[in-house]
Amino acid sequence: MKDRIKRDLMDLMMVPGLSGHEDRVRRDLRQRLDEIGVETTSDRLGNLVAQFPGQGPSVMLFTHMDQLGFIVRRIEADGLIRLERLGGVPERALAAQEVLICVGEGKDISGIIANKSHHATAPAEKYHVTPYPELYVDTGLSSLAEVEDAGIRIGTPVIYAPQAIELANDRISGTSIDDRAGCAVLLEMARRLKARKSGPPVHLAFTVLEEFNLRGAQPLAQKIQPDIAIQLDLMLATDTPDMAARGDMVLGQGPGMSLYSFHGRGTLNGVIPHPAMVDLFENAARAQSIQLQRSAQVGVLTDLSYVQLVGDGVASIDMGFPMRYSHSAREVCDLGDLVALTKLLDAALGDIGPDFSLDRDDYT
Ligand SMILES: [Zn+2]
Repeated sequence: MKDRIKRDLMDLMMVPGLSGHEDRVRRDLRQRLDEIGVETTSDRLGNLVAQFPGQGPSVMLFTHMDQLGFIVRRIEADGLIRLERLGGVPERALAAQEVLICVGEGKDISGIIANKSHHATAPAEKYHVTPYPELYVDTGLSSLAEVEDAGIRIGTPVIYAPQAIELANDRISGTSIDDRAGCAVLLEMARRLKARKSGPPVHLAFTVLEEFNLRGAQPLAQKIQPDIAIQLDLMLATDTPDMAARGDMVLGQGPGMSLYSFHGRGTLNGVIPHPAMVDLFENAARAQSIQLQRSAQVGVLTDLSYVQLVGDGVASIDMGFPMRYSHSAREVCDLGDLVALTKLLDAALGDIGPDFSLDRDDYT
């Protein structure tokens, strides 16, 4: 299983899928699901869904397929390109990065985000983060006409140049591990759900627009009207010196469960999981001897925040894998965590029987 997850993850990390421009990654996922023998449908926004019939409360198990990046904002007369941010792009990790301007399959253009020549950088500038409006992309194309002839226009999507490398100890680094790692786990779940004999109805979904507005999954949830929603995404690993005070989430020590997430800047949303879901995953982890880590973080938010508010309300929980260096072009995850997360999800779904209670009055 580890090798399959690794192959899916590293392949998917190489497929461009900027938020709002997920078509290539959706086609890739659909083809992988076809090969597993799982039929899919997609809606007008591009969400991709596979249905697995069953008995009991219905479950929407989902993860986002899109990634953050940029949009071409302006093309200068000399061919240099200015970018607008799309999603939570870390400005201090941008200069000297390679980017891919997504003109179309086979036509993409490579570029680099310029970093001012060091020899000309004044001492005061050396510790200053250049705001993104001042950054520019150099593609080698040297006039507006050349850039336009290459198919680049205002509004063209741009991503970090896709990369996926293996580090020691089953760790993977590169672009959009957030959330192609979730996608790889869901593909593995599709294989298991196809082979299962019984269980609750499951809607397995790969969603769009998460990094943009967090709401791409909302129309899908409105259509499905699930009783339960389980969302997969990164959990902030806090086992590096710069993160030590933020929590107790260790890379390589198992999947994570979010007990609290909140974001107050603009969106004002978050998820406090349904107690039945917390019990479900704690019990499944104990029964399977899987170490389950806990997360409580302000400043993180997933599309589950909007899914939970659909219909009569949805019993929700964010599950995930520890990840370092989020939203940079060099994110890091551990394959062992993805394997354990898959086993945990499989066991938890198996524990949702026809009489599984979501009654809040069961809890004090
Ligand atoms: Zn994510």
